[in-house]
Order: sequence, then structure tokens, then C-alpha cells
Amino acid sequence: MKPDYDDYKKWYRESMLSDVVKALKNRDFAASFFTTTDEAKKALLEMIPANTAVGVGGSVTIRELGLIQKLEKKGNTVIHHWKEGLAKQKNRETRKEEGIAEYYLTSANAITKDGDIINIDGIGNRVSHMIYGPNNVIIIAGYNKIVTDIDEGILRTKEIAAVMNAKRVGAKTPCATTGKCIDCDAPGRICRVTTIIQYRPWQTNITVLLVNEILGF
Ligand code: SF4
Repeated sequence: MKPDYDDYKKWYRESMLSDVVKALKNRDFAASFFTTTDEAKKALLEMIPANTAVGVGGSVTIRELGLIQKLEKKGNTVIHHWKEGLAKQKNRETRKEEGIAEYYLTSANAITKDGDIINIDGIGNRVSHMIYGPNNVIIIAGYNKIVTDIDEGILRTKEIAAVMNAKRVGAKTPCATTGKCIDCDAPGRICRVTTIIQYRPWQTNITVLLVNEILGF
């Protein structure tokens, strides 16, 4: 019989995520970790009252978890711009509307073990809404987003997250062809705004839910 070492890996990750939760709390964020996505989804859905508006950022994690459908089923109005055929003007308006909803859901491109939340955007709507947008921001992230420090986090945003996003959107960038970031100067470069939220900004409620599974890019 093949030996099974999964329990050790799971144990290590839980210990690491538990430390990151402590670090995030130390930075004034609300934070908790979950063993499975089902537990995280249940907690998240309980946090958001029915009949409230929820803006959703450009996040593969949120879509992978099927949260848009679950919220709509619960009676929430979900505002999101990843819709086929959304005209340019409507796309811009929708991104703005996401930022005035009561809740905002997204993931993060990287979270350091010290509690820094790092993101990279092409337009900047997601990062601005995370900092000064909806009254309540909920970030849900798999353990694959955890990095040692800010330098590694910035590398991750480009070399892993942005490369896959460039491929996803069919960007005319070197990385979308080669799978490697060369910190390009291409007109279609999608890496245009990098943010590091080091402490919870005043006047915001930011909750981070970490999950012991691989999620998103
Ligand atoms: S190659 Fe350009 S667009 Fe692609 S990840 Fe690097 S900086 Fe971003």
C-alpha cells in the first residue's frame, strides 16, 4: 500500500495558517482560517445578511467557489463585471457600482506571514475598493497565496497570478505566450497598480478568511 503523508502536509499548513491569522489580527484585520472550502463558504455566507448588495472583484477564487450563485440564491444583489458581452461603458459603470455596495468580496494575490496583503491590478478598481470602498470587505484566500515576505509577495503577484491572468484574458503580453514574467513594457501590460495593505485602514472592516486548500491564481 502506498504511504499517505497528507496528514503531515495538512498539519503543517494548518499551523502556518494559524500563525498568519495571528499576524493579520495583529495588523488589525479580522481573520480566521478554515480546513475546507465548504466551512469557509458557510462562514462567509453567514457573515453577509440577505438583501444586501455585494460587489465582487475580479477574482478567480470567488468564481471557483461558486459564491456569486450562492449569494444570488440567498437574495443578495450581486454586482460584478465578469460578464460576457458587457459593453465598455457598462463595464466601467459596473466596476464603480461594485465599490458602493455594502459588501465587497475578493481574494488577494499574496498575503505575507507578517500580515501584509498584496495585490496587483491592471485598472485598479479592485485594489481601491479593498482600501476605501464598501463598508465591509471580505478576502478569501487559499494557502497557496501565503508568502514569506513582501518581496516574495510582489514576485508572486506577477510571476504566478498575473501570468495566469494574462493567459485568461488573452492579453497581448510576453507572459501570455511563454508563461513567464519578464516585467514587460508591452502596451497590453496588465500589471499597472501594486498595493500593499499593511494594516487595516481606518474606517474599513476587512475580514480575511484563509482556507487550507489551493484556491485561485
Ligand atoms: S510580462 Fe508584463 S504583463 Fe506579464 S506578468 Fe510580467 S509585467 Fe505583467
